[in-house]
Amino acid sequence: MSIRESLTEVPDAAAPAAPSTPAPSLAARGLSVTIDGARLLDDVDFEARPGELHALLGPNGAGKSTLLGALAGDVTPSAGTASLDGRPLATWKLRELARVRAVLLQQHEVFFPFTVREVVEMGRAPWRGTAAEDDDERMIAEAMALTDITALASRSVPSLSGGERARAALARVLAQGASTLMLDEPTAALDLKHQEDVMRLARERAASGDTVIVVLHDLNVAAAYADRVTLLQRGRVVASGEPRAVLTAERIAAVYGQAVEVLEHPRTGTPLILPLR
Ligand code: ADP
Ligand code: MG
Repeated sequence: MSIRESLTEVPDAAAPAAPSTPAPSLAARGLSVTIDGARLLDDVDFEARPGELHALLGPNGAGKSTLLGALAGDVTPSAGTASLDGRPLATWKLRELARVRAVLLQQHEVFFPFTVREVVEMGRAPWRGTAAEDDDERMIAEAMALTDITALASRSVPSLSGGERARAALARVLAQGASTLMLDEPTAALDLKHQEDVMRLARERAASGDTVIVVLHDLNVAAAYADRVTLLQRGRVVASGEPRAVLTAERIAAVYGQAVEVLEHPRTGTPLILPLR
């Protein structure tokens, strides 16, 4: 199918709203996910808008990856809806989806000995046979430069360190050229510089009008970079809003079971969250 054909399937309801408040590109309404009798998500409402870097936070097992999966169309809701650009995920064709949103999974192991370059090339698969194929070389080179893996291009992925592998997986996602980015713990294996590189990159993509959702564990990174954060606990949304409003000492202690103090960065005013030690 050509891009034109796939675009004509988008109903009028997906037309952009007034420029001041762009319509959410990703939304969940009353979303519940039950697997084998376990309620993984319970009545979740969520919105992420173009131009926004939105962090998903919460303790281990809170449902962050499940929510990302439902918003990506990989996990089927048992109640409620998850939609992308105003259309329920279930109505999207897979190839069409892959041109609009790119997903970095928390588990991104590559067992077959592909080279780094080959893995990044896979990100271009949704555009095969379209005019956008002309951009393949540029997109691949850009993605590899942005993730600092150009020098690793011919290395076999299983031979890489955990952090290098994570950057190769991220490069593949960036090469896809989608305007909605969904990244599940992209910084978990990264050293300080590469963590900051990834977050700056996420910030820049949001600033250029993309929708960026990032699952994070580091509350300080979320506070410094995210426009909005959504805090999950046991499959439910505890709070959603600006980092400063959501990340209070009381709420963090209640959700994580760890007492913290929240200070203000003397120069930037960003909340600084420190465990009470
Ligand atoms: P998070 O990403 O916030 O750590 P997940 O969304 O991965 O949490 O998982 C939420 C909860 O659901 C966890 O307790 C996890 O063990 C459980 N879970 C995840 N997938 C399944 C599954 N297929 N069947 C049963 N339980 C699951
Ligand atoms: Mg997870």
